[in-house]
Amino acid sequence: MIDLHTHTTESDGSLSPAELVDRACAIGLEALAISDHDTLAGYDGALERARGAGLELIRAIEIGTRHPEPGKPRGQSVHVLGYFLTRAPSPILLEWLAGIQAARRDRNSRLAARLRELGLDVRLEEVEALGRRLTGRPHFARVLVGKGYAATVEDAFSLYLNESAKAYVPKVEPLAADAIAHLREGGALPVVAHPFRLAEGNPQREREMIAAFCDAGLGGLEAWHSDHSPADADRFLALARQFDLAVTGGSDFHGEAKAGVQLGTGRNGNLAVPRAALDRMRERAARL
Ligand SMILES: [Zn+2]
Ligand SMILES: [Zn+2]
Repeated sequence: MIDLHTHTTESDGSLSPAELVDRACAIGLEALAISDHDTLAGYDGALERARGAGLELIRAIEIGTRHPEPGKPRGQSVHVLGYFLTRAPSPILLEWLAGIQAARRDRNSRLAARLRELGLDVRLEEVEALGRRLTGRPHFARVLVGKGYAATVEDAFSLYLNESAKAYVPKVEPLAADAIAHLREGGALPVVAHPFRLAEGNPQREREMIAAFCDAGLGGLEAWHSDHSPADADRFLALARQFDLAVTGGSDFHGEAKAGVQLGTGRNGNLAVPRAALDRMRERAARL
């Protein structure tokens, strides 16, 4: 059993990198990829523990991107995974990632300023204390509820944080094609995460988007995922064959932060990623 898509406290998961390694060993995982949002810090924090335990640890990352989509002014959200199977990330890629992290922090500081303009006592530091490296709107919502500015997290979003609400500040995300190209040049195998979210199951649109991503240098598709039905998995396995892409899979484990998803086995045992997939990813990455 292997799991190639997981999150730790370095992004929005609830287990620390070392705790995640311990959990992986306890359930008998052979290989684990840590793929936190926008940061490689989870891998760094887990490496020593994994070595000591004899667990094969893979350095990975997940990046939120946008792809132009008719009828959607902000484009379609696309999550891109990068797997560093044969090379460490290049300095140029690390610099690009630092830019993404800076854009997130800048958005948060503008959001805090906007809330203060509206007369709400919200400081960036108190929000960041909840969110650490991956502070975002959910953490703002919790602070707003804690201070009595909103009754619930949902209220906080509808009153202040949603795209149509009065404190909304857009987040700048890279284009999917640019992220794919940067990851590839920087030493990673770029993979579209949970592709069932691309086009709400519209097979023709999925195919068009994947073709565009292949032009940018896509290396794989996440065919197996906790939120994929068996039919989704079959469709993406077929697309991967058609476009000559590697296939990957993972639970998208977040610990307590995503109830119902188990490390290695997904939702109610709906996941079983074959070890052979990792071997094929490595072959593929060696040709990058
Ligand atoms: Zn994702
Ligand atoms: Zn994820």
